[in-house]
Amino acid sequence: MELIVLGSGTITSPPERNPSGYLLKEENHILLLDVGPGIIRQLKMLPLDLTGIGVIVITHFHLDHCSDLLALLMARHLLRPGSNKELTIIGPQGLKAWFESQAQWQGKWLHNALPVLVEWQGADLQADGWYISAEHTAHTANSLAYRIERHGKSLFFSGDTDWQEALIPLARNADLALIECSLPDQLKQEGHLTPKETGRLAREANVKHLMATHIYPQNDTSDLKDRVAAYFSGKITVAQDFLQITI
Ligand SMILES: [Zn+2]
Ligand SMILES: [Zn+2]
Repeated sequence: MELIVLGSGTITSPPERNPSGYLLKEENHILLLDVGPGIIRQLKMLPLDLTGIGVIVITHFHLDHCSDLLALLMARHLLRPGSNKELTIIGPQGLKAWFESQAQWQGKWLHNALPVLVEWQGADLQADGWYISAEHTAHTANSLAYRIERHGKSLFFSGDTDWQEALIPLARNADLALIECSLPDQLKQEGHLTPKETGRLAREANVKHLMATHIYPQNDTSDLKDRVAAYFSGKITVAQDFLQITI
């Protein structure tokens, strides 16, 4: 499968780092992971039919991870009415209530063709051939990290999290691990990881390839890779928007 980074930054990042979003693709099976502000524009930069996205996975309801969701659904409706009915949206508990609160003023275009909404309840999920497991992160009351597998290949995505022991088994031996790396060690903020913790999670989970992402401007320096490498000796990539990787 192919991963395309759509957003490696957060809400305060410069335009080169859009807030959170990643596209996973295998043949005509397309999964979108997070839909932060600007992701719809990032998607339009790709040779991609927006109505071809079969699954959207949301880590949590902070706006840097989900604010473009309804805009994307509107675009899909206008491109091909009814296409939202073919879409599955997976997210934390509260997804249905959140969706209803956002969607209540949208009218018929949305309500006559609702996507399938699936709240993670602790059991593994399957959608459009993607195998999806999740674990709570140390960030908001219901925030999630995910492991997504297809044809024996695995992607781990930490979402937003503080150090969380329970993520180690979810990330174990992942072919690619997207792990948040928000702020430098000396500016540690509760609810987020620093290069030391990002590297430690990759090391303890023995991931094959670490991609540091969700990078705040204060952490976005040319030595970021070295600061992570001090704690993880495997392959490291610092995420860049539109970077494409075969997993
Ligand atoms: Zn967050
Ligand atoms: Zn965030």
